[in-house]
Amino acid sequence: MLSAIVGINWGDEGKGRMVDLLSEDYDVVVRYQGGNNAGHTVINHLGKFILNLMPSGILRPEVVNVMGNGMVIDLEHLHKEMGRLIEAGVKITPENLKISDRAIICLPYHVMQDCLEEERLADAKYGSTRRGIAPVYGDKYMKKGIRIGDLLQPEALKKHLQGILDWKNLTITKVYKSEPVEFDAMWKWLETYGNPIKDYICDTGLYLDKAEKDNKKIMFEAQLGALRDIDFGIYPFTSSSNTIAAYAPIGAGIPNHKLHNVIGVMKAYSTCVGEGPFTCEIFGEEAEALRQAGGEYGAATGRPRRVGPFDVTASRYGVRMQGADIIALTKMDVLSGFEKIPVCVAYEIDGKQTTEFLFGDDLERAKPVIEYLKGWNCDITKCRKPQDLPQEAIDYIRYIEKAVECKIRYVSVGAEREEYIEF
Ligand code: GDP
Ligand code: MG
Repeated sequence: MLSAIVGINWGDEGKGRMVDLLSEDYDVVVRYQGGNNAGHTVINHLGKFILNLMPSGILRPEVVNVMGNGMVIDLEHLHKEMGRLIEAGVKITPENLKISDRAIICLPYHVMQDCLEEERLADAKYGSTRRGIAPVYGDKYMKKGIRIGDLLQPEALKKHLQGILDWKNLTITKVYKSEPVEFDAMWKWLETYGNPIKDYICDTGLYLDKAEKDNKKIMFEAQLGALRDIDFGIYPFTSSSNTIAAYAPIGAGIPNHKLHNVIGVMKAYSTCVGEGPFTCEIFGEEAEALRQAGGEYGAATGRPRRVGPFDVTASRYGVRMQGADIIALTKMDVLSGFEKIPVCVAYEIDGKQTTEFLFGDDLERAKPVIEYLKGWNCDITKCRKPQDLPQEAIDYIRYIEKAVECKIRYVSVGAEREEYIEF
């Protein structure tokens, strides 16, 4: 059985939290795209963890975790992240962590190029996490990437690295007027951080193909949300990978298998990190109140997140792009105490209202159409059954469910594993 847990919005919907909860019933959790620009927060009896590269199933000792071929992996970051988790008592061995030989390595020069480009763009910057993600995916498609499996063939890798650096240094020295990247430093970096993970490298597609045929339950964990997908998101303010569920079997190495179930994780209001159109955005005191209530600061970067009310148009589009079968609505508790709750029910452009998501400059020009729903003035974090919730909260859930045309199965009322309600 293949399920995907994916983001409906701009990312940071609480995917890590839902993967940690639902992976109890799964044998394998697979990250299939992105890199350490992800920040997936998991809070359970073991403590609080912010996972960047590691699949969120790593905290369950009986779950096998896979980093798929669709990922880009910064080896130094991986080394540190594994070290931190092991220090916290988490078991990580080649038995419960498998890294795809086809995943691409994110090197220090990718991070450097990301920073140089954001600085060159100045006010026109993308709002990159500066973790090298766009340059490394760019290199993948330029066929100038180094793959994890190359670490197992050092003689060939040496030659390959030299050729790549000759090419990369043209950009670094001539375009950005920066110092060239030295071969010896990069080779040392690859040895220092690559050697310790050699036993984890394998053909993860082969492993997953067999696991699926053996009737194992496999969960794909996406990074970011539908609105950051490279093809269907708010381009160019997207990430550089496909965040959508349809890509999961490809990024995991089993394009010969089909998804059975897509769980879309959707926030009860909107947040967005980085630049680009964010139609429902609110500012000033109202925004600050929501940001504070939701603790909306980036898990990977600490940046304050932009905030706004729930956006029906964007979320309905996200549900469609993800092909979500059911929704997990997160952070409902954050809305407690607001007298009335704004909802962005449509966009207005050139005097007309629409609930279809817009393209390019139309999206830039769109204005939000806001309606208000009645709030509830009590703490809902202890609610565990639908009937524990105040009627206004039920009404809000039903309203959103109808608006996005997808069944809400889980409602999360707190960051900890058990703080949720099943409908
Ligand atoms: P991800 O990137 O989708 O995994 O989400 P993040 O971890 O970046 O952001 C979600 C944040 O909200 C984290 O700080 C979580 O601990 C927290 N969180 C998740 N679900 C809930 C919830 O239902 N209520 C509250 N108050 N916090 C939540
Ligand atoms: Mg996050």
